[in-house]
Amino acid sequence: MTDRYAVVGNPIGHSLSPAIHAHFARAAGQNLRYDAFEAPIGGFGAAADDFFGAGGKGLNVTVPFKRDAYLWTARHDDAAAGAGAVNTVLIDPDGARRGCNTDGAGLVRDIVSNLGWPLDGARTLILGAGGAARGIVLPLRGAGAREVTIANRNREKAGHLAQRFGVAACGLDDIAPGWDLVVNATSAGLAGIGGILPQGSVRGSRCYDLSYAADGATPFCAWAARQGAAAVGDGLGMLVEQAAEAFRLWRGTRPETAPVLAALRRCAAQ
Ligand code: NAP
Repeated sequence: MTDRYAVVGNPIGHSLSPAIHAHFARAAGQNLRYDAFEAPIGGFGAAADDFFGAGGKGLNVTVPFKRDAYLWTARHDDAAAGAGAVNTVLIDPDGARRGCNTDGAGLVRDIVSNLGWPLDGARTLILGAGGAARGIVLPLRGAGAREVTIANRNREKAGHLAQRFGVAACGLDDIAPGWDLVVNATSAGLAGIGGILPQGSVRGSRCYDLSYAADGATPFCAWAARQGAAAVGDGLGMLVEQAAEAFRLWRGTRPETAPVLAALRRCAAQ
């Protein structure tokens, strides 16, 4: 029987994950099926019960269910425990539900291996204090980022998150220049907004946006480039790298990511 995997979210129609996993499976010569499905808000647990009850092998979880998936799983890897959020679920051999979080590892891998940006010793600013920010603070610190600061529109939320991880917090308006790396983990780009920081504050910084766009020019990347950023990168590479980590957890082999990333960029450019 073909092993079945899926990604669940709400909404889910835009997801590239089925295409990414289909690439991985073809390249690895593995026979598997990977679907995308929507669960109703508040309905993650029932949807996951159904999926695994019907023999599903592994589930990716996206907005807004990563916290629900954390609560649904009994065991957690360090990244999921640190973030309090799960994006990859599997069933251990003894039947226990295991929740993992591959987002941070995917981000670090994209920054260091694909973009070639140094993280060790990089003074790092994280924008946003939502689910995505929560999942990347510890992996960035683990890779050597220093003076890590969380800046958010809602300062109170930044303060809570910063306290959890023992880093600094401030509002977006407080940001002055001087960062080696600025990571945008806000969803402002969904509303077409890129300039969420004071003028001049990212000059000379490498700027990474977790959001992605076909041509890489997300609103934040485009704004940062106009502001004189040293380099800009969007989150498509992170999406592919976090998927590769999930594939490795499920299938025991880490697929090559470069051909998939290149194919997605080519497709998107058409
Ligand atoms: P979330 O939990 O809803 O958090 C949204 C964050 O964005 C909050 O901090 C919010 O600030 C901030 N924000 C929203 N609109 C803003 C605006 N106009 N100006 C300034 N800040 C604004 O969302 P999330 O799950 O963290 O996701 C954030 C982004 O990361 C999404 O675009 C998502 O697609 C992306 N992401 C990408 C990957 C990948 O693999 N590439 C993985 C995970 C997430 P307030 O607290 O002040 O409201």
